[in-house]
Amino acid sequence: MTDLFALNGRNAIVTGGAQGIGEAIVLGLRDAGARVFICDVNPDTGRASAERHGVEFVAADVTDPDSVDAAFEHVVSAGGSVDVAVNNAGIVHNHPSEDLDPADWRRVMSVNLDGVFYSCRAAGKRMLAQGSGSIINTGSMSGHISNRPQPQSAYNAAKAGVIHLTKSLAGEWAARGVRVNSVSPGYVGTELTKRGLSNEEWRRTWIDGTPMNRVAEPGEIAPAVVFLASDASSYCTGTDLVVDGGYTVW
Ligand code: NAD
Repeated sequence: MTDLFALNGRNAIVTGGAQGIGEAIVLGLRDAGARVFICDVNPDTGRASAERHGVEFVAADVTDPDSVDAAFEHVVSAGGSVDVAVNNAGIVHNHPSEDLDPADWRRVMSVNLDGVFYSCRAAGKRMLAQGSGSIINTGSMSGHISNRPQPQSAYNAAKAGVIHLTKSLAGEWAARGVRVNSVSPGYVGTELTKRGLSNEEWRRTWIDGTPMNRVAEPGEIAPAVVFLASDASSYCTGTDLVVDGGYTVW
C-alpha cells in the first residue's frame, strides 16, 4: 500500500516553497522520493531553504506568466518532465472592505488567483503533452467560509476562485491524463498567520472556532498534498481536500 504514495522518478515544483506550508510540502514530496524544485519570488529564503533540504531552487514571480513559464521550462529541461505541480504561493491582506484600496484587492487577486492560474497553465501545457501529471493548488477553508474576526474579502474571494478553477481544469484535462485537485488548510502557524496569532482576540477566536482547539503545524498539511500528488489518489480529480481541524463543521 505505501508504494502507492511513492514519487520516485517524478519531478515536482512547489511555488511559494521557500517557507511555511510550501516548505513542509517540499519535504513531504522529497521524502516520498520526488526530485523537488522550490519556486519562489524570494531568492534568498528560497535558495537557503533548497540548500538546507537538499533540493533545487528556481526563481519566479507567480504574478508574471512569463516568469512562471520559464520556471516550469527549467524543471522540464533539468528533469525531462514535470510530474507534480503544487501551486501554493499566497499572501493575505486584512482590511475592512468598505475602505479597501483597489491596489490591495488587485495584489491579493494577482498572487492568489491569477498566479495559481498561470502556474496551472504552465503545468497543464507540459503535462498534457506528456499525457500525465498531478496538479495540486493550495486553496483554503476561506474559500468555503468567511473568516472572523479579521476582514479579508479579497483573500476569501480569491480562494473560492482557486477551488472552482481547480474543478474547471479537472474537467478539461481529466481525459488527457492530468489530474487537478486542491488542498484547503484551516489555520496553520506560519509567517502568514504570525500577526493574527499575536493578536489575542484573533488567536482566541481562531482557536475557539476550531473543534480540535488548536492551529495546525505546516507538516500536517503536507501529507494531504503527497496523497494527491501520488498514485494513491489515482481516481481523484476536482477534489478539494479540507484539512482544517474541523473548523468548517461549525
Ligand atoms: P508564507 O507567507 O509562510 O509563505 C508564502 C510563500 O509564498 C513565501 O515563501 C513567499 O515568498 C511566496 N510568495 C509570495 N508571493 C509570491 C509570488 N508572487 N511568487 C512566488 N512566490 C511568492 O505563507 P503560508 O502560510 O505558508 O501560505 C502558503 C499557502 O497556504 C498560501 O496560498 C496561503 O494562502 C495558504 N493558506 C495558509 C493558511 C495559514 O493559516 N497559514 C491557511 C490556509 C491556506
